[in-house]
Amino acid sequence: MVEALLYERLEKNAVRCNLCSHRCTIKEGRRGRCSVRENQGGTLISLVYGRLVAAASDPVEKKPIWHLAPGSLSFSVASVGCNFSCSFCQNADISQLAPDENDPTGITATPESVVDQALAAGARSIAFTYTEPTVAFEFVLDTARLAREKGLFTILVTNGYLTFEAIDLLAPYLTCANVDLKAFTHDFYKRYCRASLEPVKDAILYLKQKGVFLEITTLLIPDLNDSMDEIDQIARFIASGTGPDTPWHLSRFYPTYRMTDRPPTPMETILMARDIGIKAGLRYVYTGNLPENTGENTFCYGCGRAVIQRSGYRLVTVDIKDNRCIFCGTYIDGIDIDGQTS
Ligand code: SF4
Repeated sequence: MVEALLYERLEKNAVRCNLCSHRCTIKEGRRGRCSVRENQGGTLISLVYGRLVAAASDPVEKKPIWHLAPGSLSFSVASVGCNFSCSFCQNADISQLAPDENDPTGITATPESVVDQALAAGARSIAFTYTEPTVAFEFVLDTARLAREKGLFTILVTNGYLTFEAIDLLAPYLTCANVDLKAFTHDFYKRYCRASLEPVKDAILYLKQKGVFLEITTLLIPDLNDSMDEIDQIARFIASGTGPDTPWHLSRFYPTYRMTDRPPTPMETILMARDIGIKAGLRYVYTGNLPENTGENTFCYGCGRAVIQRSGYRLVTVDIKDNRCIFCGTYIDGIDIDGQTS
């Protein structure tokens, strides 16, 4: 347990946490909405510093991050906790857990041990993922700082609810972020995530401004966020806000957790959404959870040829040299995008 960053003391030993846009006011002895930050005698404590519930070497494609060192491994870590309560969460068994002080969840780790494991595994990056890494901010920050010193890339897979203050601290040590833009209405965020849309949009724009390479993911859920009008609004926001070079991942929903009342997203919806993204000017729009679909390839926006062909998380061909399409020379956006087939 370590003292939290980014909080202020209030009257009567209460505190306000300024790490995420909930900005919880927390009375003495209580926790914030994420359940992993506790007010102990007027001091805000992180209950998850150095407590990992997951640590594994994954293909970086699994994050999904497709424009940073394609084909490489990303050492991926998580602690329990989340500041959202999404009814369609795919990792609710760990994201919605609250730590018990007498029986802390997870194994002990240090920034040094995480970086050492990543290097030993031959990973090119460390990803903070699976649950919401924002709520383990202090550990993420210390680990990211060390990882960058040791020449590793760093990846945040996030719901984008960080405050600007948090982004200011973390961005210098962050290579890339995949931000979930779950919908484009306040109602969706309020009803299904117990959060708000605007802070997410603001954080996306601010991360871009701070020089973090961005990829965006949207899970399309039947009848909730899959109208063509809403998809068009998301696509235009990304294209005009963060630029046409921002990859956009469109994922297929499968019934899970508390949302079992609707079928998987029809394949046609995902394909139509991809067309809308491309029409909005985005250069790289990908389909997710749709096996055997060319929507998982990277196409050159200059000549239209496939410059990375994927099969699931595996690269089949890479036709990029020095970040340029080998067929026509167009610049392909990303970091070390030349990739490695295996
Ligand atoms: S990080 Fe947790 S305690 Fe802090 S504002 Fe967000 S939900 Fe509240």
